[in-house]
Amino acid sequence: MPEKKKMQLDREKMRVQDATARIHNFDEVALGYSKEEAIAEAERCLACKKLPCNEACPIHCLPAEYIELIAEGDFDRALAQILEYNPLAASCGRVCAHFCEAKCTLDKKGTPVAIAFLKRAAADYGQASVEAGAPTGKKVAVVGSGPAGLAVAWECAKAGHAVIIFEAHGLAGGMLWLGIPSYRLPREAIQEDVQRVLDLGVELRLESPITTEQQILDLQKEFDAVFIGIGAHEPRWMGIEGEDLEGVIHAIDFLREVNSGKDVVVGARTAVIGGGNVAMDAVRSARRLGAEAFIVYRRAREQMPADEAEIEETEEEGIVFHFLTNPTRVLGKDGKMTGLECLQMELGEPDESGRRRPLPVEGSEFLIEADMMIQAISQRPDISWMEEDSNLKTTRWQTFEVDSETNETSVPGVFAAGDAVTGPATIVEAIADARKAVEGILDYLERS
Ligand SMILES: Cc1cc2nc3c(=O)[nH]c(=O)nc-3n(C[C@H](O)[C@H](O)[C@H](O)COP(=O)(O)OP(=O)(O)OC[C@H]3O[C@@H](n4cnc5c(N)ncnc54)[C@H](O)[C@@H]3O)c2cc1C
Repeated sequence: MPEKKKMQLDREKMRVQDATARIHNFDEVALGYSKEEAIAEAERCLACKKLPCNEACPIHCLPAEYIELIAEGDFDRALAQILEYNPLAASCGRVCAHFCEAKCTLDKKGTPVAIAFLKRAAADYGQASVEAGAPTGKKVAVVGSGPAGLAVAWECAKAGHAVIIFEAHGLAGGMLWLGIPSYRLPREAIQEDVQRVLDLGVELRLESPITTEQQILDLQKEFDAVFIGIGAHEPRWMGIEGEDLEGVIHAIDFLREVNSGKDVVVGARTAVIGGGNVAMDAVRSARRLGAEAFIVYRRAREQMPADEAEIEETEEEGIVFHFLTNPTRVLGKDGKMTGLECLQMELGEPDESGRRRPLPVEGSEFLIEADMMIQAISQRPDISWMEEDSNLKTTRWQTFEVDSETNETSVPGVFAAGDAVTGPATIVEAIADARKAVEGILDYLERS
């Protein structure tokens, strides 16, 4: 009788760049699985009948199917299966929020199957081609080339519609490029995913921002449907005294400058405010640029919204965290910031987010010396191009109001999805929202 294989409870370790070396470069930290490691990791999958991983995935991309194909060593078919749901295999394989893994049955016994890393392996080693549908003669305009815009372009082109993407910046990929640093997501991976979409005949017009609402009306005349996927690129500030001092910047602006290859000067002591992934990206980037960079966060470690893996990597890089600390004023001299006045916080009852509310400790003011402050609190869609009496309805968070099933905006034939609708979220959620809009667009085009 063949010997029964022992269940491997812990995942195959991925090789990473050593922390002491990586703080001096922007090269990728996670080095990927070899084919053999990927196959061994895929073999750990229990192929649960109820598919909890699939339930948890916002796009329900059937991870068990591509995991099984990888276990068989068939990376080509694994990639083809992934592309049925998601054109961004290389990017999602590296930085997806992987809600699937949190529901993996193995998480209860050991570590969950490394589903995202397996997606990366499929993208690294697989070859698959997807073709555009037979031309329908219909045209779709896509505003924004982030995950939402790319997913809409991909699906519309597969359905045979001609697609043109209008992108404000000189690079395609949205926050994949402008927000996420290259040490987590190498630019080649983004290019590979964008190219996959362009290979379907999608036209990309870079440096083509929508700056007036009239342009949307013009697109409506020229195209059969219009999609808005402009993301959330307007910084939200804390609104404290001294934010106008030299040395204060928002993480969205800071990361865009760094990721566009600009020569960015950081402070000797750079304080990054926030506890989410954007804050981790900003502090680790500032560290790589030579700053003594540290985190200032008003709650405790347990309440940090950043991914645990990212927090751990940040800690490994020697970055200090000031917990239960809230800046109340930026201090300066001759127009330049010199420090932060902060209050000590303590945790009260949970708030609407479910996390314990931070409460100031009276009389606990203290100073932190810093010559640069990067705020990573939040961001929202930039809708400054819209008219005050616009027919496009928006919410008080500057997000677009859409039909919950079709993602059609208040203007017929104009659809929206992604961060521009949900507010800042994740890549896979933006794709899921975009896929809803695709259903709406395809149905609209069939009727029109
Ligand atoms: C620093 C940072 C790190 C992140 N890390 C992760 C992560 O690890 N994992 C994860 O899942 N998610 C992460 N996210 C979130 C994720 O990147 C976003 O949720 C996702 O990119 C949203 O996709 P989108 O297409 O809606 O918007 P975006 O990706 O923001 O794309 C919008 C595009 O529209 C363009 N645009 C904007 N205005 C106009 C205009 N007027 N005219 C024409 N074009 C316009 C923009 O230039 C941009 O290219 C991160 C976000 C940030 C900021």
